[in-house]
Order: sequence, then C-alpha cells, then structure tokens
Amino acid sequence: MEKAETYLLHTYNRYPVVLDHGKGVYLYDTEGKKYLDFGAGIGVCALGYGDEELNEAIKAQVDKLMHTSNLFYHEPLCEAAEKLAAITKMDRVFITNSGTEAVEGALKLARKYALKQGYENRTEIISMNKGFHGRSMGSLSVTGTVKYRTPFEPLISGVTFAEYNDLESVKAAVNDKTCAVILETLQGEGGIYEANEEFIKGIRALCDEKDIVMICDEIQCGMGRTGSYFAYEKYGILPDVVTMAKGIGAGVPVGAFAVKEKVMCGLEAGDHGTTFGGNPLVTAAVSKTIDIFKERDLLSHVKEMGAYLTEQLESLKTKKNTIVDRRGRGLMQGIECSQAVSPVITEALKKGLILIAAGTNVIRFLPPLVIEKEQIDEMIEILDSIIS
Ligand code: PLP
Repeated sequence: MEKAETYLLHTYNRYPVVLDHGKGVYLYDTEGKKYLDFGAGIGVCALGYGDEELNEAIKAQVDKLMHTSNLFYHEPLCEAAEKLAAITKMDRVFITNSGTEAVEGALKLARKYALKQGYENRTEIISMNKGFHGRSMGSLSVTGTVKYRTPFEPLISGVTFAEYNDLESVKAAVNDKTCAVILETLQGEGGIYEANEEFIKGIRALCDEKDIVMICDEIQCGMGRTGSYFAYEKYGILPDVVTMAKGIGAGVPVGAFAVKEKVMCGLEAGDHGTTFGGNPLVTAAVSKTIDIFKERDLLSHVKEMGAYLTEQLESLKTKKNTIVDRRGRGLMQGIECSQAVSPVITEALKKGLILIAAGTNVIRFLPPLVIEKEQIDEMIEILDSIIS
C-alpha cells in the first residue's frame, strides 16, 4: 500500500485491501481474509477466478506465442473474430485492448462512414446524459457526466447529449450533421438504467431513416451479463456497431467493436490500427471464454440467477425503506438508496463482501456470471445486516 501511494498516480481512492488470489466467486487478501465478490473487477471476471479450462488455454498460448503485431495472420485472432461476429450477429470485428479503445474505433468509423457516403460535414454525435463510454479523449467526449469531461476540455466538438429513454430528446438533437448515436443498452456507471423498448426501437428507426450509425455500447452490459450475449437482443434490433470489452476475455485486457457489413467501409486499410490489439494471448482467452459460455450454457444460468437476484433484492427493498428502487436485469442490477452508499460498501468489505457503487446512491451488483443461489443469499444476508 505504501508503494502504491508513493509510486502510482493518485487517480484512484483504493480500499485498504491487498488482494492476492481468487477461486470461484471468492477473493482472498494477503492476510488470508475471504471476500465474496459482487463486483467481478467491474464486470470483467465473467467466469470468476481460477477457472482451470480458461487458465490452461491462456497458459498454453503463453508458451506458444504471445504477440505478433497485426502485420501477420495468426489463428487465435481469426477464431476469436469469427466467434465474436457470430455472438454479436455482426459481420466484422476489430479487436482492441480496452473498452475505451473500442469506443474510439466506433466513433472514427461513424465519421468516416458519413464521409464515404458523401454527406458533407456530417461529424456530429449524439450521446446520452448519464452515459459512460471511457476516459480517453474521444470516449470522454461522449461520456455524459459533466465532472469527468470539464477538466479536459476542449474535447471533440459536435457532441450533443440527449435524455436516456426520451426518444423525443434524441429526435430533437438530430440534425443534418449527425453521423452517429451512441448509447449503452443498459447504463452502468450512470446508475443502472435500462433502455425501454420504444426508445431503442425508435433510435433504430431514426438511424435507418437518416442513415445515421447506431452504436450500442455493450462494454458493461454485454457478454452474457443480462442473460443474452448482448443486451440489444431483447429488443429484436441490431445496431450498426457494437462495442464490447470487460467480460469477453474474462480477465485479460481486451475489447472489440463489431460492425455490420453496411458500415464497414468506415474503416479501411490504413485508417485504424493498434500494436497489441488482438494479439494471440488475449484472443486465445476470448475464444476459450466463448467456448466455455456455450459448453456450460452460461446464458441460461445467468437468466436463472438474475431472476433469483431480482427476487431477493425486491424482498430486501420491501424490508428497508432506505432502498427506494431496484433496477437492471440479469446479473447487472442496482439498488438506489435514499442516501450515499459508500458507508454500506465500506462496511460490507469489513464483513467480507465486495460491492461497488454506481454514482453516489446506487449499489451495483455485477457478480461473476458463475454465481450460485447460496452466494446470492450470502450477499443478501450481509447487506440486510448493514442497511438500516
Ligand atoms: N463503456 C462502458 C459502458 C463502460 O462501462 C466502460 C467501463 O466501465 C467503458 C466504456 C470503458 O472501458 P475501459 O475501462 O475498458 O476503457
């Protein structure tokens, strides 16, 4: 901890816990204390910790080949791309190192697509209030939280923020310079707000009508978290571009954006690149993660556990009048409280439960997707003992 406070840039206020190893949905610190994990490293560790099948695949790839650059072909990349295209129902994929880079690529593609279509000066982007898309300059420009953006302005110009779940506000924001609409299908950082059907379908129709690129950011809500591979499946629509990261590599740093054939002309040879993106190590992990999802029918498991979590949170809500709302779906849910939740999170940690917040008043539940009912019960019991 001393070294961290001496040598790391102080961009995070960390909890005074030094994590050491993990097994299943439990983490252990260097003192041997056990923690039930309802954060999954902010929605990353979909398979929990120490999954032997995944770890073996990664270890085998380490011994074989870790990096090649994108100047050559290699099998893990092509296999991962094929599998990601299949589960997103998109046509082509670009692999990145993180979520924010997936968003950067998606934004570049949208601008260039408009240019290729011959739309003059179509450079503007519509995003949503409370939306979160990352910390690099482009993705920060479309992130809805003002306090994250302000210190780094000027950001990219031509971004308008509309209200989530208010189709009229999106329509009002569209003009003849709009090239893209970007939104999370289920907002995470902003407080767990799920899009309603009219909103998503309305945006799809609007984008079709005006030839605007619809980007669904599924970095947090994708890869099985809501019980389908991607949250947009619930609405019976397909976006033009999907951004993903977090769970797709189940712990290795990897992101991707997948696109429909129609918009792929947005990025051609020379338009975009990355040194590390899609290297053999991370793509072997992506490929194996997708195989494991299928072999173990994890989506059905998430649906079942998600329904159980909803039930348990709803019954906790009826007992505690501090809890004013429960939102979300599957294993991406939140409870809004009438006051700041940080004392609850700190207390939970003391009792061996890892929880994370979404904004000031919302506790977010993003457990590994392999969570079981008993562990949901264990979490609820601890929460019940803390929330007054
Ligand atoms: N988009 C969404 C919806 C996210 O939740 C996040 C991260 O939390 C990002 C983008 C940025 O991803 P990363 O932190 O991997 O850059």
